[in-house]
Amino acid sequence: MKFMEAKLTLKSPAIVTQKRVERGFVRPADCVPGSTLRGAILTALFRGGKLSQADLRREAEEPSLLALPAYPVRDGAKSVPATPFMSFCRKCGSTVDVTRESVDALRRGEEPEPRLLHECGEPLKPLYGSLIAKVSDGLQELKVRSFRATSVAIDKDRGSAIRGMLFDYEAIAEGTEFWAWVLAPNWLQAGRMELAVGRGQSRGFGWAELKLEPAPQPPQLNQGAFVSLSPLVPLKRLEWGGSTLLLTKILGRTMRLQAGWDYVHGLRPIVKFARRGSIALARASGEATLLRVGLPVKAGPSWLTGVNALLPIDEYYRVLGG
Ligand SMILES: [Zn+2]
Repeated sequence: MKFMEAKLTLKSPAIVTQKRVERGFVRPADCVPGSTLRGAILTALFRGGKLSQADLRREAEEPSLLALPAYPVRDGAKSVPATPFMSFCRKCGSTVDVTRESVDALRRGEEPEPRLLHECGEPLKPLYGSLIAKVSDGLQELKVRSFRATSVAIDKDRGSAIRGMLFDYEAIAEGTEFWAWVLAPNWLQAGRMELAVGRGQSRGFGWAELKLEPAPQPPQLNQGAFVSLSPLVPLKRLEWGGSTLLLTKILGRTMRLQAGWDYVHGLRPIVKFARRGSIALARASGEATLLRVGLPVKAGPSWLTGVNALLPIDEYYRVLGG
């Protein structure tokens, strides 16, 4: 298996959505979910004749290609999900980060609480789960550039537009760059490839270039505090391919999400996740690279991928460039 860093650049606007079950509406995503990136790579290889239908079926039954959600990059700075201990003061325009102090308190057995008021007295806006990146004057929330795109529904039988069926989409602007990690079997080589992400691909949406480069082997880790770089399935014990992850505590909120489309079984499982950016105390054994892209977890007949990606706190700050 090869551990690679991916750079994804949108060549056309992309419609990437995520359904949050309890709110009942489809929300535009600010990242490319790991399962979507994985699916886009597999589809591109299939279209290019490098993988067969049987290979795709085997990948569904036993995934070997795994990907972290792809998060936007701004001026070379990688964004990551903010922890529950990061917040923003609108009055001072500054970001408050008490993650390290809170994790230390957690290790002492205390229950750290997110800070509610800034030192100026203004209520703080929680950043938990939002994307943050390091810019010249510190950590800042990063939002992807997007715009509304209106599209017509196409009648699949007649191949024509259905009268009155207009859809409004939020599309991520072309030129947006994302970063991710990919754990790949030998049939995926470093280099460049064209692929498509999200909806409306036949209408030209979501075309992208993916650049894969070998990434340095991350340090072996065993025990400590981690930040979840993806949604995290709150199970006490996760096992995959000889690696084990024991979660002793999760600090963060859970929500129900509709997981990615399972193209072999034709269903979308609904799963409870802890939000990205959550803090987890965990003990891990096995492959260090696997933890960076996340241990798959079984939901019904299908595997959920792009979840459970954990990064030790120190490494999280290295990715953030600080
Ligand atoms: Zn303030």
